[in-house]
Amino acid sequence: MEEEYDLETLAVRSGVHRSQYNEHSEPIFLTSSFVFESAAQAAARFKGEEPGNIYARFTNPTMTAFQERLASLEGAEVCVATASGMSAILSCVMGLLNAGDHIVSSRSIFGSTVQLFGNILSRFGIETTFVSASDPAEWEKAVKPNTKLFFVETPSNPLMELSDIASLAMIAKKSGARLAVDNCFCTPIIQRPLELGADIVIHSATKYLDGQGRVLGGAVLGSAESMEGVKNFLRTAGPTMSAFNAWIFLKGMETLKIRMEAQSKSAHEIAQWLEAQPSVERVYYPGLPSHPQHELAKRQQSMGGAILSFDIRGGRDAAWRVVDSTKMISITANLGDTKTTITHPATTTHGRISPEARQAAGIGEGLLRLAVGLESVEDIKKDLARGLA
Ligand SMILES: *Cc1c(COP(=O)(O)O)cnc(C)c1O
Repeated sequence: MEEEYDLETLAVRSGVHRSQYNEHSEPIFLTSSFVFESAAQAAARFKGEEPGNIYARFTNPTMTAFQERLASLEGAEVCVATASGMSAILSCVMGLLNAGDHIVSSRSIFGSTVQLFGNILSRFGIETTFVSASDPAEWEKAVKPNTKLFFVETPSNPLMELSDIASLAMIAKKSGARLAVDNCFCTPIIQRPLELGADIVIHSATKYLDGQGRVLGGAVLGSAESMEGVKNFLRTAGPTMSAFNAWIFLKGMETLKIRMEAQSKSAHEIAQWLEAQPSVERVYYPGLPSHPQHELAKRQQSMGGAILSFDIRGGRDAAWRVVDSTKMISITANLGDTKTTITHPATTTHGRISPEARQAAGIGEGLLRLAVGLESVEDIKKDLARGLA
């Protein structure tokens, strides 16, 4: 859309291109290929001289609508949709890096991203140095002549550690590297990394963009120049977003702003309430003044977000008691849903790392992560209170 519109308007209206039938709601184009009007048109499409669809591994109109809508929300020139959040991260790396290149990455990132960088890319000659999410000096020290990518996720999972995007962007620029931010926890409603100086934004659309836990998808966003290689990798290797999933995300994004606002407001209230519970030792939530980076949170996020974690006195037994005493909250490692979810990181999402490494990362046996949904705050509190008592 050419004019300037607010985020909530873009979330509903951008990416709309009606077909000859003038449908109101976005259609799902379930077709693997597209027909040409002539041999000359087919040739022009394949040569890239004429825009248009060829084959659904490259583009499909529903996916294109999703890409335009998310690009408008993140303020990005180009969005490339992928089959999952992990394939977004893989496509970003494959599109931008070569054997012999080096990544500097936050240590506090999604478990599968750690595996991808540490165990898979390393087999193909791409090396990663893991550093502290919150200490820009460590990033500066880790830079090598072949560093091409900085990778960060903020707030981090599960301890809600923040990274200063603007500071990291400055160090990346000085080092000739691009800064990629996994913006899954905040979404563009709460945090817009490109405005803060980042070069690339990554999403697991599986989480808040859908928001209702239905399908997997992802996206990589950035300048047209930086997305060229990413697009080529996807076309060739094929982890493309399906038309059906793109449609789910288009519909999900229409309610993104009101969901993020409502879920973030509830998370804030629950975080405050948890802080007052005698059995709770510590609450990790960027929206609370007790968070060590609260000032940074106020600078780079418009809200605290819908995810929080807290330490229970009494270690694993006490934490499991809270989990097992819930009747409504879902016991699942997933997040970003309208249904509130609870997880015990030490024995689930972070169970594969050694107890020493877990301790060093601050993920104790008494830690619980809560991803707050759309139920009433009072009902969520009631469900937690039983196990906290
Ligand atoms: C879930 C998640 C991913 C991976 O996304 P998938 O869609 O599951 O592949 C990446 N980053 C973060 C922060 C996530 O929460």
